[in-house]
Amino acid sequence: MKVLAKASDNNIATVYVAETEDKKLVEFVESLQPPFPIEDKWVFVISTMYGCPVGCKFCDSGWTYKGKLGKAAMIDQIDYMIRSRYPDLKVPARKFKIQFSRMGEPAMNESVLDVLRQLPELYDIKGFLPSISTVAPHGTENFFSQLLDIKNSQYRNGFQLQFSIHSTNPEQRDWLVPVRKWSFSEIADYGEQFYSDGERKITLNFALGEGNEVDQKVLLNYFDPEIFLIKITPVNPTQKALVNNVKNIVDDSCGHNNIVNRIESAGYDVILSIGELEENRIGSNCGQHIMNYLSRSKAPLDAYSYELESV
Ligand code: SF4
Repeated sequence: MKVLAKASDNNIATVYVAETEDKKLVEFVESLQPPFPIEDKWVFVISTMYGCPVGCKFCDSGWTYKGKLGKAAMIDQIDYMIRSRYPDLKVPARKFKIQFSRMGEPAMNESVLDVLRQLPELYDIKGFLPSISTVAPHGTENFFSQLLDIKNSQYRNGFQLQFSIHSTNPEQRDWLVPVRKWSFSEIADYGEQFYSDGERKITLNFALGEGNEVDQKVLLNYFDPEIFLIKITPVNPTQKALVNNVKNIVDDSCGHNNIVNRIESAGYDVILSIGELEENRIGSNCGQHIMNYLSRSKAPLDAYSYELESV
């Protein structure tokens, strides 16, 4: 893999653009969580596919799809970022999270499982927290069955699993995430198998656009608050969100407050994750994709304003 360029604020986040052995472009991200030092928390967001076939209505990774990355191409992304700072391959961060969610739906690529199996052998990563965020596509039962075994055998101390459902209204969910998917019952059944006492709760994520339904009665019908928590995130400024008129309501004006209060009152833990707005300008936030922005050049407000520097 050859890293070609980066967009960076060293204190917040860096997006790398690289060419893999297949002569295709990928993007991957490292980010810090100011004011915490890197020894406290370091986060990678790597690509699992060249683009994404799902095509969520607010995600710039889904403009194109050119295939899956193999295990080596995923490890190359991780290896580049670790070696750049820690050539001895010892990562001191108390929390070192790798999210498989820059470009691609991880459950549609079983090589992700091989990466999870191998990572602890490759690096000294005591604070390692793998994170799989998925829309739960139909036909991925084999992936999830193996994932459960891997978590139980290798990651009892910490594994983050997130189902990105975005709406409790099935029709709205289908519009936002336009592929055949597991039903809420199927997600709930799997979550109940996946979760064991004392482990991290399973996350249900809502990137909240104006009008997205988050009905606590529907949630309670399927998802046990002892097993699932709710994470509310913004719809980040992407070209897709702009074109599809998906308007963010999670910001300083607190349009999300009412929803958060209702879900908390229903008994769920709620994480409100707004993040660093500077990451929108860097192009490192969830759903953003610099190369697609450059090929389309229709910038959402206050996003993608950093120049790509050659590496
Ligand atoms: S949000 Fe995830 S599943 Fe949806 S298009 Fe983007 S990368 Fe694919």
